[in-house]
Amino acid sequence: MLRGQEARIDLGALAGNLKKIKSLPGRVRGQGKGVGVIAVVKADAYGHGAVRISKRLWKEGVLSLAVAYGSEARTLREEGVKAPILVLFDEDPGPAFDLELTPVLHSLKSARRLSREAQKRGREIGVHVKVDTGMGRMGLFGDDAANEVALIASLPGVRVEGLMSHFSEIGPGNLGFARLQLEKFNSLRNELAGKGIRPFAHISSSAGALLLPEAHLDAVRVGLVLYGSSPFEADKTGLKPVMNIKTRIILLKKLHKGQPVSYDRTFITARESLIAVVPVGYADGYLRAFSNKGYAMVGGKHAPVAGRVCMDLTMLDVTGIKGVSEGDEAVLLGDGITGGELAGLAGTNPYEIMTSLGGRARRYFSV
Ligand SMILES: *Cc1c(COP(=O)(O)O)cnc(C)c1O
Repeated sequence: MLRGQEARIDLGALAGNLKKIKSLPGRVRGQGKGVGVIAVVKADAYGHGAVRISKRLWKEGVLSLAVAYGSEARTLREEGVKAPILVLFDEDPGPAFDLELTPVLHSLKSARRLSREAQKRGREIGVHVKVDTGMGRMGLFGDDAANEVALIASLPGVRVEGLMSHFSEIGPGNLGFARLQLEKFNSLRNELAGKGIRPFAHISSSAGALLLPEAHLDAVRVGLVLYGSSPFEADKTGLKPVMNIKTRIILLKKLHKGQPVSYDRTFITARESLIAVVPVGYADGYLRAFSNKGYAMVGGKHAPVAGRVCMDLTMLDVTGIKGVSEGDEAVLLGDGITGGELAGLAGTNPYEIMTSLGGRARRYFSV
């Protein structure tokens, strides 16, 4: 029996979104006009399937891919992805050499470890160094950061190719802190330039790419916008959603007025109702927070979630939708339902919607 959800991944939309981002104001070092793009494909490309997404992005022209962990990079290499891969968080030096990766370094300690490994192997390895300008997460921090970067650059076997940072808070009309972070980052870059060190610099993820042209620097490091979603609620970016998720109705039932639906009887039919059961629940990444809040599209019409989302099943109120039958499609994401909208209903962000729903879907790719 059918269960779970299907994701249709539109690689053409992905290519179109990349083109839009590349045409933002900016300049690729040594290549002239256009923004350089480091494409973030961590978490299985936000639930879209990292292998196919990476291959298409590399073909369309990105400077590099970025993943969180070495294990993700290993999968890409095993599947024949040739692009440079930046590893954002994993400092284990082993895979970096074996898989030709570009690790991001977050401390002097890990830089020294990498340098020892490089010498042992008689190799030199390119790295990007991350500095913490206000995220309070990974990266070198404190007033001595410039000296530490210079020290890393002087280690044998380690070549500092890139310097990066990450915005912690940025939104429309909320650019103050991002500007402070950018200032910090730029003054660090100047200090390094004074020492003759001029690494490739990047600080903007999707939000910075859309809102802060002066922060485009040598590249933007984006995920969400490539997948056609915006980090902001009012989405006027013209980006096209890459993922469309649907399931099918496995049971239709007529209920009288006053009958309860699902756990805790949080939904009581207000009229004679037609309720559709779909084989998707929070175990499939359809968030329990959608209970009585989310909706699907059935036959092009809104079908609100009735009652609690269960582990493997969800009920939709399809009363009044004409001609509904068992086996019909129910679209969970797409057909006008955006990740941003679902995120708003569930009190989360589009990233969690994509990784939850897409991460557990059977995927079909269209080119
Ligand atoms: C995930 C991530 C990104 C991409 O963020 P988007 O908002 O999806 O563009 C960029 N940089 C770092 C360090 C990240 O962890």
